[in-house]
Amino acid sequence: MDKERKLIIAGNWKMNKTVAEAIDLVNSLARELAKVKDADIVVCPPFTALSDVSKAILASKNIALGAQNMSENNVGAFTGEIAAVMLKEFSVRYVILGHSERRTFQLESDELISKKARAAHAAALKPIVCVGETLTEREAGRMEKVLETQVQGSLAGLNKDQMVETVVAYEPVWAIGTGKTASAQQAQEAHAFIRAQIAKMFDDAVARKVRIQYGGSVKPANARELMSLPDVDGALVGGAALEVRSFADIVKNSI
Ligand code: PEP
Repeated sequence: MDKERKLIIAGNWKMNKTVAEAIDLVNSLARELAKVKDADIVVCPPFTALSDVSKAILASKNIALGAQNMSENNVGAFTGEIAAVMLKEFSVRYVILGHSERRTFQLESDELISKKARAAHAAALKPIVCVGETLTEREAGRMEKVLETQVQGSLAGLNKDQMVETVVAYEPVWAIGTGKTASAQQAQEAHAFIRAQIAKMFDDAVARKVRIQYGGSVKPANARELMSLPDVDGALVGGAALEVRSFADIVKNSI
């Protein structure tokens, strides 16, 4: 697929996979996707599997490692937290920030997410910053307002160079793990809106370079249509990233 920006397809494994299962999955993915050149492929295992998955993909040139969260702090008395420099020890290159599950269950705010995004860049990690409206918000006609607030708040304080190296994931909360996917029109509208917000905050040249992923029940069957949309530059995949066949087919159907 001929796209203006290089596709980035990331698998968010969430709280799934023991170390042995994670190694098995990533080894199979490395074999299946060995020839793929036209997309950045990222796997985001739980923290406990980062070390072993990192070793398993050493020989694989086309699978990068991501984490699912990190602390906004660099060091110190923050029980249970993981700092960016600790992720770097395992050659982690990306970090998902502000996933809707963390916004809901850990009450993460846009302000906190923006601090994390700046801490990630300070350690040369690329953040994947998630935004998206709930069904109630969409039905109340508040989608644009919610996206505007989340984009402006979560990306606040980044400079232009950092913004270009940031990935934004549009994940309508009503489509995550529900089997409901945004229609092509809904996805394109939301992505174009997010890009326009980035242009307002930075400038057009920056906005044109930023990759915006779609997330929410992406499957092999809908990947091609979603990835063909002008402002959709990749996918953040949950459930379908847990199996080699479905994730590999999403990648192959997207390029
Ligand atoms: C996600 O949680 O980021 C996600 C997109 O999940 P799923 O693909 O299962 O909807």
